[in-house]
Amino acid sequence: MKFVHRFETRSAEETRTVGRRLAALLPKKGVVLLIGELGAGKTTLAKGIVEGRHAASADDVSSPTFTLIHEYGNPVSVYHADLYRLDTAEQVRRLGLEELFEKPALTLVEWGERFPDLFPDEHIEIHLRHTGEDRRDIEVFGFES
Ligand code: ADP
Ligand code: MG
Repeated sequence: MKFVHRFETRSAEETRTVGRRLAALLPKKGVVLLIGELGAGKTTLAKGIVEGRHAASADDVSSPTFTLIHEYGNPVSVYHADLYRLDTAEQVRRLGLEELFEKPALTLVEWGERFPDLFPDEHIEIHLRHTGEDRRDIEVFGFES
């Protein structure tokens, strides 16, 4: 595991800005697990990343909690999945998530850490933590295979 970067933000807007900055640092293709409790800012950060990749404007990025996977860009350059509503690895497999890993795109996944066996060894994790009402600690880690 390789520690990459740490940010502290004081508003949702700052977290979006971090996302836009990360968009320039993240690889073109790969899996990014967004890890943190409900309200930690996973979707907010994803908006910034999608925006930074010029795949959509942040206003057009919504939480995939009910739709499970959203795709952005033409051709698609960012997938955004939310596995909150899924209970078993089998349900995730049926969703076709693994097919996305082959695509030349970034795949952002909320609640993916619940199904660790489904993700490639080589991936990035972004951990988000509440450190105050509007404060968040954001840490980026790279994992190599
Ligand atoms: P998650 O996807 O982790 O459940 P969301 O991004 O949907 O979280 O929601 C985060 C909530 O917290 C939003 O209502 C946002 O406005 C609020 N918030 C307050 N401060 C921050 C911050 N520093 N970063 C991100 N979100 C923040
Ligand atoms: Mg979310």
